[in-house]
Amino acid sequence: MSWVISDNRLNKDQLLVNESLFSQGNGYLGVRGNFEEGYTDNMTSIRGTYLNAFHDETAIEYGEKLHAFPETQQKLVNVIDSQTITIDIDQERFSMFEGKILSSSRTLYLDKGYSERLIHWLSPNGKEVKLCFRRLISFVTKELFAQSIHIEPISSIDEVVITSTLNGDVSNFVDPSDPRVASGHAKRLHVVDVDQQEDTHSVINETYETKLRVSCVTRTEMKAENYNYHIEKMESSVNETYRFNPDQTVQFTKYNVYTDTYRHGENLKECGLKLQEQLSSDSFEELLTKQKHYLDAFWNKSDIQITGDNELQQGIRFNLYQLLQSVGKDSVSNISAKGLSGEGYEGHYFWDTEIYMFPVFLMTQPDIAKQLLLHRFSILDAAKDRAKEVGHKKGALFPWRTITGTECSGFFPAGTAQYHISADIAYSFVQYYLATKDKTFLKEYGAELLVETARLWIDTGHEKDGQFRIDDVTGPDEYTCIVNNNYYTNVMAKNNLQWAVRALEIVKGYDADAYKQLLNRLSVTQVELAEWTRAGERMFLPYDEKLGIHAQDDTFLNKDIWNIEDTPKEKFPLLLHYHPLTLYRYQVCKQADTVLGHFLLEDEADIETIRQSYDYYEKVTTHDSSLSYCVFSIMAAKLGYDEKAYHYFNETARLDLDNTHKNTKDGLHMANMGGTWLALVYGFAGLRVKEEGLAFQPKLPEEWSSLQFRVQYEGKTLSVNLMKDTVKYALIEGDELSLIHLNESVTLTGNKTVEKKM
Ligand code: BGC
Repeated sequence: MSWVISDNRLNKDQLLVNESLFSQGNGYLGVRGNFEEGYTDNMTSIRGTYLNAFHDETAIEYGEKLHAFPETQQKLVNVIDSQTITIDIDQERFSMFEGKILSSSRTLYLDKGYSERLIHWLSPNGKEVKLCFRRLISFVTKELFAQSIHIEPISSIDEVVITSTLNGDVSNFVDPSDPRVASGHAKRLHVVDVDQQEDTHSVINETYETKLRVSCVTRTEMKAENYNYHIEKMESSVNETYRFNPDQTVQFTKYNVYTDTYRHGENLKECGLKLQEQLSSDSFEELLTKQKHYLDAFWNKSDIQITGDNELQQGIRFNLYQLLQSVGKDSVSNISAKGLSGEGYEGHYFWDTEIYMFPVFLMTQPDIAKQLLLHRFSILDAAKDRAKEVGHKKGALFPWRTITGTECSGFFPAGTAQYHISADIAYSFVQYYLATKDKTFLKEYGAELLVETARLWIDTGHEKDGQFRIDDVTGPDEYTCIVNNNYYTNVMAKNNLQWAVRALEIVKGYDADAYKQLLNRLSVTQVELAEWTRAGERMFLPYDEKLGIHAQDDTFLNKDIWNIEDTPKEKFPLLLHYHPLTLYRYQVCKQADTVLGHFLLEDEADIETIRQSYDYYEKVTTHDSSLSYCVFSIMAAKLGYDEKAYHYFNETARLDLDNTHKNTKDGLHMANMGGTWLALVYGFAGLRVKEEGLAFQPKLPEEWSSLQFRVQYEGKTLSVNLMKDTVKYALIEGDELSLIHLNESVTLTGNKTVEKKM
């Protein structure tokens, strides 16, 4: 069960949720789990095909627009629909909602990388047929979406008609009642070319504003005797019709190849045709074999096994699989908040990547992690421009949400004001260095990014009475906005400043010439270096003596406490029911804030402060954001709050599978999916990656009898197996690796397993 996802529910709400759960993708191309044949008329479907980063630009409309508010935003565009295929059995259209379903199953195979629907259907007029729909989005050829339909007549049937469509007349989904979903601009692209070649046909669309083009070239294959074929080129689509007498089983396969001007240059159709030619020797079965090979390699490094709970195991694998399906691997794209599974948050990239998802790739698939950093580096210039626009003399201010690097947030209190994103991105470059020790990367990319983000803090903050203070920013908690000295922001900025200095030191030791060139190129002076050191040392981290906790910001603890317990259930998430100002006036957190700061930079506070902070903030946190549970799980594990650690972990692992946030229909909660891994590895296994090395503080939840996973560190593969009272470490790849288990140093060599008491 834990390698498959299945669900046969056909009610309206669940179908929408399943479109997200059964979505498939490869980081470049994503298709929602819609039915090929569609639903009946009055049922809503969010029918979607997306290319990561492929967007149009739309105007942001403001009632009152102030200086340097962004004028436009990017929007992920729903592109050409190639998934539609209808089947008529003796003039009756096959539908899951007509006639009788004698049996049916729907499955997504996480180990094999395809989905399957098996249906035994009795038409309203009593015709009986068995259908098998399979689809995959190739991990090997990123442009390819392949579909296979197998039809087996059971009763006597005179004629079957398969109609396969390639349709360029597509729009985005809108929902004016939910701020997390777009409210306008449904149609963002138009058809510029419909064409028919010898064995293929194609549609090209162009976006209205960005003039980006996307092409889909489709090739179909029919394995049946004596059929009639008809192809019809329409204004915005191509319809192919196959008619045959089905005294035979029939196999229909459709290969759709997407290309776009972002990645494939101007000659999209030619590029698509060439790819089709290269692919023509691969049958659907062969594609499945290649898919399996790819996934075998992925799971070999990334799988996490627990014994004792199949449902959680399923959630863990599903979340990891969806991360793989969503992550951009080409350095021109990133991971959007919903991956490629839906249109929520308009395909934008947030800090979700760096803090919640990047670590998963860093520790399991570092090559992918590197691509994510390269994407951020590619928008560093845009971040520098943005800093200037907002009024800074220097530095890089990364956009709160974006695709191409410009700010796309129209609501600055919970958007642009979240300056911490710049420190979060800096943090991920540091983590990459710590886990890989890749000094060349630090020299070429990391140091520069750290310098430019450090400059932002100097320009944003100021020193008063010997303390470096950062005013008027918003921390992660979006229910408390525009505050002075948000603990999380300040502690992350401190780390950013210190690491800018440290990174340059490392580069100096590694390549003195490159160091000099870097200082010259970036005009870094010794005075500036001293400034960063001083600001880091004097960073103000608000602390409340009476409570013994770090205050979330200068005024948070003076506010009234929101009565979470007596707030009616239907009023959550609060953001949908209260004006932001009401929320800002209370001690109420949407998500982990100070507690997250304590996780990411645990050495900045003593354990008692961390404990007291946890106890305090837990009571005022609603977890209305899905980015919260995992942090509370990790920190509960650290503090020995075993039940809580387990409880919060449960909330993350199946959040989408059980639709607990009630908006999975708009797309999956990707950051939370990363959070599941974090809670297992940073939480229960207590992994930390620091300059001193790799360290573990493992503790297995009582409910399980083992937890097993692998991590990559400095190019080596380490296997970790937590059991009831012991943990086994083994070096799978690499000659030698030292780590710290609890407080003891352990050196691993060869394939020898070392067992330690927990
Ligand atoms: C959260 C943010 C997050 C965004 C996208 C919001 O609800 O508060 O922290 O970045 O969702 O996932």
